[in-house]
Amino acid sequence: MSKYIFVTGGVASSLGKGILAASLSKLLQARGFRVTNQKLDPYINVDPGTLNPYEHGECFVTEDGHEADLDLGHYERFLDIRTHKVNNITTGRIYQSVIEKERRGDYLGKTVQVIPHITDEIRRNITALGRQGDYDFVIVEIGGTVGDIESLPFIEVVRQMKWEHGKDCLCIHLTYVPYLQAAGELKTKPTQHSVRDLQQEGVQPDIIVLRTEHDINDSLRRKVALFCNVDFESVIQSADAPSIYRVPLNMQAEHLDEVVLRKTGYDLKQVPHADMSSWNAFLAKLEGAKREVKIALVGKYVQLQDAYKSIHESLSHAAAYNNRRLVLTSLLSDDITEQNVADKLRGQQAVLVAPGFGQRGMEGKFVALRYAREKKIPCLGICLGMQAMAIEFARNVLGYTDANSVEMDERTTHNVIDMMEEQKTMLNKGGSMRLGAYPCRLKPGSRVYQIYGTELINERHRHRYEFNQLYQAEFESSGMHCTGVNPDSGLVEIIELDGHPWYIGTQFHPEYSSTVLHPHPLFISFVAAAIKH
Ligand code: GLN
Repeated sequence: MSKYIFVTGGVASSLGKGILAASLSKLLQARGFRVTNQKLDPYINVDPGTLNPYEHGECFVTEDGHEADLDLGHYERFLDIRTHKVNNITTGRIYQSVIEKERRGDYLGKTVQVIPHITDEIRRNITALGRQGDYDFVIVEIGGTVGDIESLPFIEVVRQMKWEHGKDCLCIHLTYVPYLQAAGELKTKPTQHSVRDLQQEGVQPDIIVLRTEHDINDSLRRKVALFCNVDFESVIQSADAPSIYRVPLNMQAEHLDEVVLRKTGYDLKQVPHADMSSWNAFLAKLEGAKREVKIALVGKYVQLQDAYKSIHESLSHAAAYNNRRLVLTSLLSDDITEQNVADKLRGQQAVLVAPGFGQRGMEGKFVALRYAREKKIPCLGICLGMQAMAIEFARNVLGYTDANSVEMDERTTHNVIDMMEEQKTMLNKGGSMRLGAYPCRLKPGSRVYQIYGTELINERHRHRYEFNQLYQAEFESSGMHCTGVNPDSGLVEIIELDGHPWYIGTQFHPEYSSTVLHPHPLFISFVAAAIKH
């Protein structure tokens, strides 16, 4: 039977529950356990697909086409696994299915209530992962902070499951220990209060992880242990780390995995040691790289670090594998003009044009792309970035000055990016996108074929518009080749430019599938091209 480990958070958000959950999973996986992670989001959106990145960071996409919380990206990158729709649940999804059941008459005669109906539905979604028998551990992260009204039903589920599963279910509570500069002291009171909030909701945490910017000494740990009813060894510190990939090792040094195993009934003598050798090899490259590689990221949400999370991580994997330290400069596309583009891109070894939606910042992207194309700076365009590559090429090389995507101009006469006929009838914003993994056939002899080293690839999509195949022949005869095509629909998935050191656009999102142990070949090649530039 699976064991369930819940990770809750207190005091403040953004303490890194996702990284903590992924790190614990990594350590258990490295000991040979079968592990999966799940994220429960207390917000009412059915999924994060319609959220602005400024609200919630990047929207991650699973292979089965689910628009998910970005923590699923951490799980995949850390564990080298694929997550699915079941790995991310929101309050909105839970209510949607309860209300559908109610309409169908499944609860006939009953008053439908938060407890037991909503909580039962949450439990059903959690135990669905454990019931398959595929996992020794299901690590469940609960979004938000304890004490929020909206997370109450989730905490109630933790209470019920701890009661019913006994030692097979633990709660790890992550809190923050602030340092008061003036007093020169670390303060545990917020932790005590947040544990009290959790206790009030019926849950006694088994392990407390303290996020801190300074070392927490034994006497403070003893204090937390005493006031929060946990053993001394179950008070764990998580100090600021130079990179998120250091956190599993920090947690190992704090014996988090050992405490979890002991508490869930394992005899440590019978459990193999964690084999972190390949992880350590990656970390040595990541932290040991002395020389830099400078890459510019052009996008419209660059002010928020999390908005392009997977792109950042994929580039940093690729830089590490190329023995370089990534120096990423984010450029707001709205600010790029013909007058300042040379200044803005000075010293940059490559340009990445980001995915996105809507008109804002498009002109700046065209300017940056034209510059990279003409000055032969390696350039990767992802999704909207690839569409912008096609539009810029049509405008400035083919001479169609009004070329556009119908997303930006419905009436353009040169609709190089258009919507597929069958999509036009689907008006539901959440439902008309091409989502999830689709196959793509690479043209033998092309650069992408060389990069992937195989003909058939599978990559994830999240977009509504497509390259208009009516223009394919004209693009190709002018040097922009369609080197990746969906074998079933013929849709163009990759464009690449002849006579340029590295100019590739992908309609799909390669950044969703780069992991620490399997960094994405396209990013590795892109960074290698940047180094050569
Ligand atoms: N807005 C574009 C589309 O819907 C691109 C989306 C994206 O970059 N993810 O097709």
